[in-house]
Amino acid sequence: MEDCIFCKIAVKETQAEIVYEDEQFIVFPDSNPKAPFHVLLIPKKHIPSLREVGEDDMELMGRLLLTAQKVAQENHLKGYKLAMHVGKEGGQEVDHLHLHLLAG
Ligand code: AMP
Ligand code: ZN
Repeated sequence: MEDCIFCKIAVKETQAEIVYEDEQFIVFPDSNPKAPFHVLLIPKKHIPSLREVGEDDMELMGRLLLTAQKVAQENHLKGYKLAMHVGKEGGQEVDHLHLHLLAG
């Protein structure tokens, strides 16, 4: 996905401070944080939004939540909020599926 900013972060073409990374996911701070702790979790695979998620992605989506749990634990967050915008009408600005993890 040539013009996808989050794909560029995933392949390190665009720099981001990496909070967590494994084979499937990369986590980095939101550039316009809405809370003292605000990171974005993205699958390295380009999926435009939750609308395009299918049965084949069930494991990936489960792992996305476990990754949020892991990042929260690693950062000693006592409580946190997860949010996902879906589609322009749902407030989604970047068309690469991502989960907001906010705390503080
Ligand atoms: P959403 O409305 O769910 O699509 O949110 C997209 C989020 O990505 C916004 O909170 C932006 O501040 C954030 N964002 C956009 N570009 C970047 C970037 N290059 N690095 C980090 N965060 C970004
Ligand atoms: Zn992408």
